[in-house]
Amino acid sequence: MSVSSDDEPLAQLKRKCNLRLTNFQTKINKLQLYLNDQASNNDIFMIQSKLDSVLELCAKIECLKLDYYDITEDEQIADNDAEFEKMEDDLEYLKVNVFSAEINALKKNESIKRTNVSNLNVFLDDDDLIRVGGRLTNSELSFDQKHPILLPRDHKLTDIIMEHFHIKKLHVGAQTLLHLVRQEYWPLNGRNNARIIVHECLKCYKAKPKLEEQIMASLPRERVTVSSPFSNTGIDLCGPFYIKYKNQRKGIFNKVYVAIFVCFSTRAVHLEILTDLTSDALIATLKRFFARRGICTTIFSDNATNFVDANSKLRKFYQLFKKLPEII
Ligand SMILES: [Zn+2]
Repeated sequence: MSVSSDDEPLAQLKRKCNLRLTNFQTKINKLQLYLNDQASNNDIFMIQSKLDSVLELCAKIECLKLDYYDITEDEQIADNDAEFEKMEDDLEYLKVNVFSAEINALKKNESIKRTNVSNLNVFLDDDDLIRVGGRLTNSELSFDQKHPILLPRDHKLTDIIMEHFHIKKLHVGAQTLLHLVRQEYWPLNGRNNARIIVHECLKCYKAKPKLEEQIMASLPRERVTVSSPFSNTGIDLCGPFYIKYKNQRKGIFNKVYVAIFVCFSTRAVHLEILTDLTSDALIATLKRFFARRGICTTIFSDNATNFVDANSKLRKFYQLFKKLPEII
């Protein structure tokens, strides 16, 4: 019997196969039975590129198959004609499974050779689908969430299912896509696959145009010239931080600031504490820094008031020294 293509697939499914196929989700699970070892032109997943279309096709195949069974008499074959045998052969051709070796091993209680599958503690369910074991057996999650169906790597079906989730969940990113897919399926090499699906999505590409990046200016001479540590230094302050003094038990917290010295050649960092933001406190900090690390050739800072003030004070002091011989 042929199935008319204009009929709505789900309604058709429910009407024809109400014993076995009322649950549409069951059909999705059965997809794993149609995985071919090598994708060919006859492959069901090469003909259709959307999950809904694949499901529709699978449903129609199952409908066709069930037409030859007497459903009421426990799947006894009603007709034994040549057409039926041909169709059975076609279906068996489709059912050459990617995981056939693993399924056979599981049925015989043998160990699985493929390490990336055996590590997942897999088992066979009632429909001969491979499911991931995991440690969530005692949780209250659904069976699909606890034991997702294994999907092969580099297979059209895996791509179709992941694309379906990506579009259904409004073009989510790779990480979220993988999380969503893993609620029902466990794609091998899923992280890479999710990244590729998002990367190759045209809508996502258009929605995220590549922004032009500013070309960075050349580094200053001090950053690219070899010199001794801290001879060229950058300084900046951070804070305030609130502290208590050693023997202080009561009273308010005191503000302190931290001066960060960064060496331009080695990127070494030196920290000093300032009690306030005055230029005198800064000059005192510089003295402690010079005593520990040696005198700098150049110091770079921003134009904060205390830096500018300390700079003018030190320059005045320097001018005084320059004039000293004349005075004497
Ligand atoms: Zn997208």
